[in-house]
Amino acid sequence: MVKQISKKTLIKNGRLIDPKNKIDQVTDLLVDDFKVAKIGSHLTDSAVHIIDAAGKIVAPGLIDIHVHFREPGDDEEETIASGSAAAVAGGYTSVVCMPNTHPPVDEATAVEYVHRMGRQARKTFVYVMGAITKDRAGQELAEMGLMAEAGAVGFTDDGCGLQDAAMMLLAMKYASMFDLVISQHCEDHSLAKNGVMNAGYKATVLGLPGVDPLAEEMMLWRDIQLVRKTKARYHAQHISTAGSVKIIREAKQQGLPVTCEATPHHLLLTEEAVADYDTNFKVNPPLRTQKDVESLRHAVADGVIDALATDHAPHLQSEKELEFLSAPCGMVGIECALPLYRKALIDTGVCDWSAMLAMLTWRPAEIIKVQKGSLAVGDRADIVVIDPDAQWSIDASQFYSKSRNCPYQGWQAKGKVLYTLVAGEVRFEAKG
Ligand SMILES: [Zn+2]
Ligand SMILES: [Zn+2]
Repeated sequence: MVKQISKKTLIKNGRLIDPKNKIDQVTDLLVDDFKVAKIGSHLTDSAVHIIDAAGKIVAPGLIDIHVHFREPGDDEEETIASGSAAAVAGGYTSVVCMPNTHPPVDEATAVEYVHRMGRQARKTFVYVMGAITKDRAGQELAEMGLMAEAGAVGFTDDGCGLQDAAMMLLAMKYASMFDLVISQHCEDHSLAKNGVMNAGYKATVLGLPGVDPLAEEMMLWRDIQLVRKTKARYHAQHISTAGSVKIIREAKQQGLPVTCEATPHHLLLTEEAVADYDTNFKVNPPLRTQKDVESLRHAVADGVIDALATDHAPHLQSEKELEFLSAPCGMVGIECALPLYRKALIDTGVCDWSAMLAMLTWRPAEIIKVQKGSLAVGDRADIVVIDPDAQWSIDASQFYSKSRNCPYQGWQAKGKVLYTLVAGEVRFEAKG
């Protein structure tokens, strides 16, 4: 479906929403030579590819700072190529791969490998974070400087929290030297133990070991004390509890350089979803309570949430078919994230399109320090065209992702990605 087009593309009569430049108006946009060449009414140009965007939203391409594309090591679950195809189908023009691969991305050559595979896939821009510690073992710092030189956009041991406070203190000092962010999966193992869902009444009823919200909040609180000391840039991944929201809100009020992200599942789903022992709802951190969901949405409304990220985590069906205690954590969702965010945030009146797109474009770009997420004249033409009203049924069997562990199977979605342009080239076009 994706066809090579002439160098110029004219997008006509779309509602251009560019939150960074505070633009929300119906206009035309001309792409030429990989860049935004002109914005204005009644633009004409000869011999160009024309996209009729009347009634559609035209926005900077989406940026997801938290994905798992499983390469190297688990290419039966996802490859950088399949993940990249899934990303552009979801409207994403840039993604950040997590380093918990096999082997992990804990040295410069691994960073270069991910970049190279991303370039070969030629779909979305693929960035990567390096591991904080060697082999993600939490014992010894990885080669952060060399990975920074190779283009890593931050550091994380995602999949695990970094348990040792002294090691985290050291990591923050090093990351600051390169002005790169430390991105933490907050989970204190001594509190989380072998929990597989949110701790509480529901877990007791289901007979499953729970993860207390404190496992997330204690590590987050600890890290914020270290940020106070180091002034390092710190990002909390996939926050899931009302207590975490409170901690981050207070840290921001104190002017600390702290940011955070929220996922579609933590904004939409609760622990109730686990009732049928469906392992597609098993995720880390676990789905929490309605109170936590409301708290996260409130945090979106008042700006405490900086970025919306998917934590797209493909797994083999054979693994997800294990019993709940043994199945791996994670779910895929990058291809249907936009309508899920819409459902959680716009349809509930939490925020409007412009505020939502800000958390999907320039705000995450600032966290990883890349010049993206804006559509001013001269900017690179990373663009998504969205039909905000199109209704469709989520069908994981149609995903470009190699994996099918999607908890939203059969959901009715509102809002559809029609085109994704990366550096001015159409890399995805919706069928039909
Ligand atoms: Zn994580
Ligand atoms: Zn993750």
